[in-house]
Amino acid sequence: MPQQTLTPTMGRPIDDALYEAVLTRSPHYDGRYYIAVRSTGIVCFPSCRSRTPKRVNILVYTSYEAAIGDAFRPCKRCTPDLHSRPPGHDVVEHVNTLLQTHWNQPISLMDLGTALNMSPSHLQRLYTRYCGISPQKALEIVRMEHAQTLLENTALTVTEVAHRVGFRSRSHFVHVFSRTMGITPSAFRPRRS
Ligand SMILES: [Zn+2]
Repeated sequence: MPQQTLTPTMGRPIDDALYEAVLTRSPHYDGRYYIAVRSTGIVCFPSCRSRTPKRVNILVYTSYEAAIGDAFRPCKRCTPDLHSRPPGHDVVEHVNTLLQTHWNQPISLMDLGTALNMSPSHLQRLYTRYCGISPQKALEIVRMEHAQTLLENTALTVTEVAHRVGFRSRSHFVHVFSRTMGITPSAFRPRRS
């Protein structure tokens, strides 16, 4: 194998913010930067969960093609060469996990951003791009599914159901439920004899 050039045409040394993303496996820069590792000849997404490369061995590229052009090979773990796992995949997965585990608590876009170490607006853009709906909308859907179950199977009041599924106010819950289901919570509830 020919000796790696020390002054490649396009790769550049990694800066603190990006190296922090590599250390924490943050998906924040996925798709914007590619991490090429001189010691292995592999190019990765910044969030790749393979062993963290030494900082001195990293070259940063702003395009996958440029890294491949410099003779790096795509990582088999994070597969930057495959469209089936686009940048943002990890973000979507992480957000969905949070929604599935925190739907019963008041959770804001700001909270999600903090959890993922991303700005709320960037998170919203990325999520919406890949899911077609915003994180807030996805949260509503999860909550409405749980609300239906509670209305059908418990004697909880509508206010109690609202609180159980993470709404602070009954009226907001009724509004969202009615908009989503086309029927009010009270009307949805089966008659109990
Ligand atoms: Zn990788």
